Amino acid sequence: MKITVLGSGTSSGVPVIGCRCAVCTSSDPRDNRLRPSISISHGDRRFVIDTTPDFRTQALRSGLERVDAVLFTHSHADHIMGLDDLRPFNFHQGGRIPIYGAADTIGTVRQVFHYIFSERARTTFVPQLDTHVLNGKPVDLHGLAFEPIRVLHGRAPIYGYRFGNAAYLTDHSEIPEESMEKLRGLDVLFLDALRHKPHPTHSTVETSVESVRRLAPRRAFFTHISHDLAHKETEQALPPGIQLAYDGLEIDVA
Ligand SMILES: [Zn+2]
Ligand SMILES: [Zn+2]
Ligand SMILES: [Zn+2]
Repeated sequence: MKITVLGSGTSSGVPVIGCRCAVCTSSDPRDNRLRPSISISHGDRRFVIDTTPDFRTQALRSGLERVDAVLFTHSHADHIMGLDDLRPFNFHQGGRIPIYGAADTIGTVRQVFHYIFSERARTTFVPQLDTHVLNGKPVDLHGLAFEPIRVLHGRAPIYGYRFGNAAYLTDHSEIPEESMEKLRGLDVLFLDALRHKPHPTHSTVETSVESVRRLAPRRAFFTHISHDLAHKETEQALPPGIQLAYDGLEIDVA
């Protein structure tokens, strides 16, 4: 199994429109961050967690040639707005694409993309998608089980996912104890680390370092990164075993 980081940035992406700060004007390609998402390659199957507003660009530059399912963490704009760009995959691979998420997430996706799911939707000019609600139970996708992991994004409960020995927990400010129990024995753990300064709905570098200390994965990668964090300097200060994710990073999972 291989994970590709499609985007490692926070909701605005980095550079932020109109910002001239050192990170937004950096020449280090790792400081150039599209909105947060990963793809997972398992045998000849490809899965995507979240479809960001940058999904088309991310699919093209990572050479994504099929999508067998999409799993949504939650319905904030930076995680869903690229949904319409699944359409070419319907043409190439044939058949409908299943999308998964919590009931409220799927409800919002169906509302925001009303034209895709309405009874009157044209059959060939909108993505052909089937929605599936996950009620906290794992789902088996072509032999790979995805287990929803409940985290708190501010006060809102949303999903991260564990699949095999990897887990992807983007937007969160707290990992409840019962979810910590589901994150033992990981090879790879992705965590939200927006910046150093506390934020009401996101984890900071410091709180995510603490989560890594408690969960002891073999390797940890921080994502959903804002323009407060320069890649090189931030990573140099991290404990061993923790890296900042960057767009295009590929990780083989044991
Ligand atoms: Zn987000
Ligand atoms: Zn900036
Ligand atoms: Zn969010």
